[in-house]
Amino acid sequence: MTRDQLLTAPDTALPSLRGAVAGLPPYVPGRRSAGLDIAALASNESHYEPLPAAAAAVAAAAGTMNRYPDSAAVELRERLATHLGVTAAEIAVGPGSVGVLQQIITGLCDAGDDVIFAWRSFEAYPILVELAGARPVRIPLDDAEGHDLDAMAAAVTARTKVILLCTPNNPTGVPISHECIEAFLRAVRSDILVVIDEAYVEYAEAGSGPDSLALYRQHPNVCILRTFSKAYGLAGLRVGYAVAAPAIAEGLRRTALPFAVSALAQKAAVASLDAGGEMEARVAAVRQERARMAAELEVQGWRLQPSQGNFLWIRADDHLLATLVDAFDRAGIMVRAYQGDGVRITVAAPASNDRVLRLLEAHTASTID
Ligand SMILES: *Cc1c(COP(=O)(O)O)cnc(C)c1O
Repeated sequence: MTRDQLLTAPDTALPSLRGAVAGLPPYVPGRRSAGLDIAALASNESHYEPLPAAAAAVAAAAGTMNRYPDSAAVELRERLATHLGVTAAEIAVGPGSVGVLQQIITGLCDAGDDVIFAWRSFEAYPILVELAGARPVRIPLDDAEGHDLDAMAAAVTARTKVILLCTPNNPTGVPISHECIEAFLRAVRSDILVVIDEAYVEYAEAGSGPDSLALYRQHPNVCILRTFSKAYGLAGLRVGYAVAAPAIAEGLRRTALPFAVSALAQKAAVASLDAGGEMEARVAAVRQERARMAAELEVQGWRLQPSQGNFLWIRADDHLLATLVDAFDRAGIMVRAYQGDGVRITVAAPASNDRVLRLLEAHTASTID
């Protein structure tokens, strides 16, 4: 065939995406702040600049960008092992904990396997599950915006491979208690991986959520997922990790995209762990602001569940949601709206939190029953 014949061949269909990919929601980029007065409260990022030690480590490592990073992330895994009281063999790192979660799901699930999670929870869950050809099983939250663990246990079938627990839950902020997860772990088969996603664990009051490491030691089918993106303020560098039984952690390391965690991210993560005290001081300030906002919103008449994350959750029907989204938009405050469910607002610096409080105050009287 000549080139012309090829170009005019009758079958001109384009290569097609897999059905699972075609069915995914389009990626909607978070809007970036366009002006000084825009408050970026839509992505639960830290409003603080990176910890000075992390920024210095990145600057110092910048000259090595011509080299590939350590794909085994040995230094970071050993530093994490010391930090957590486990061995480096029990740790797998990835490009954000979302990256690690993708390694978990693709590493464990065959097409048609079930992955159970609460809904509403983290938006990435159904996307990663569908991308792997597995089946997302969404279990509605209970009336107190928390996980309905009885319903989740009842949803287990022979096809269940992974269960995702998010504590404190994004976007509702409600944690799962240690005792509830303990009972849940006794109720589910030990060949199901129970992932405890603790992206916001640093923001939670001591004792509000599980002692996940203790649960992991008792139940080797537990996998703990954590990130440097939130409290440590490294969202833009992409580094998170899992703690899991050595054979599983090793499998996760095998499923990783080679060199996915840059040397800069590895160095920044190690420096951030070394500067843990500074991180904790920042987190304490956010907790204090969270309590101040919650108290004031209660006085205003809003009925919110206490949040253990760096965000507040306002359940809203679509009418209230549209009103709030419009008001936040006009005020230059970026928040995350979830159709049919509500709106999530990141707790940040006092000045932007005050703007949120003033805005919400203007909407209480007319919108709350
Ligand atoms: C933000 C978040 C993550 C972490 O994302 P990274 O990929 O580590 O940036 C994981 N789980 C939940 C529930 C989150 O909200």
